[in-house]
Amino acid sequence: TVDATTLDVSGICAGYGSVPVLHDVSIKVEPGSVVTLIGANGAGKSTLLKVVGGLIQSTGGSVAFNGTDCTRRRPDQMVRAGLGIVPEGRRLFGEMTLRENLELGAYARTDRQNIAHDFERVLGLFPELRDRLSTQAKSFSGGQQQMVAIARALMGAPKLLLLDEPTIGLAPVVVDRVAALIREISELGVDILLIEQNAEVALSIADFGYVLENGRVVMADKAEALLANPQVRLAYLGV
Ligand code: ATP
Repeated sequence: TVDATTLDVSGICAGYGSVPVLHDVSIKVEPGSVVTLIGANGAGKSTLLKVVGGLIQSTGGSVAFNGTDCTRRRPDQMVRAGLGIVPEGRRLFGEMTLRENLELGAYARTDRQNIAHDFERVLGLFPELRDRLSTQAKSFSGGQQQMVAIARALMGAPKLLLLDEPTIGLAPVVVDRVAALIREISELGVDILLIEQNAEVALSIADFGYVLENGRVVMADKAEALLANPQVRLAYLGV
């Protein structure tokens, strides 16, 4: 049997109040893949993430997750169904320690017996954090905070991880580290939807990409094809 498409967003329309933002947006994440959604500031990328995460309601279209219709589910239902979100700006609990932040990431799990094992496994991905479990989250550097946010989402044992601009504001060497981590996480069997303004990085990590402009998908192709596409290069890569 063929695995169900991990995420199948079909014909989504959504906005804020009476202001429409997304128009008939369709994207898919197939099992085992890293998919990126790129587009300029204001194109509607975060709005799509909020629709998938159940944080805002769509006015049309559907969202299927692991073959189950999840249109207009609540955020906690999406988390329980296996969705992990790393929001823009990280939203860590700054006064809490790294250990407490990671423990909170597991709040919705019912398989409590696997949490200790996953705690070790997640820390294995982030050697730079291992010795700092008692440090308050707010004391970490920007790059480390991004890693804490990713680690916290992984503690929910997600099937799909949504990352909203994980490289924004990071130094180039840290961007490379986060990019390598995303590939590593994918190889562990977590599917990835990566939202990025940094098209160069996103397309070099991803298998497949979508370009969003003014709330519409205007291109969809293998990431390497998009990287080589002259229109994409001109509009998003500055070359
Ligand atoms: P960014 O990279 O800045 O996050 P984006 O592609 O994610 O950009 P969105 O944040 O989805 O874009 O915003 C798309 C449009 O929706 C913009 O015109 C924005 O002004 C509008 N918008 C976003 N959030 C709200 C909100 N809470 N209320 C009203 N309008 C909003």
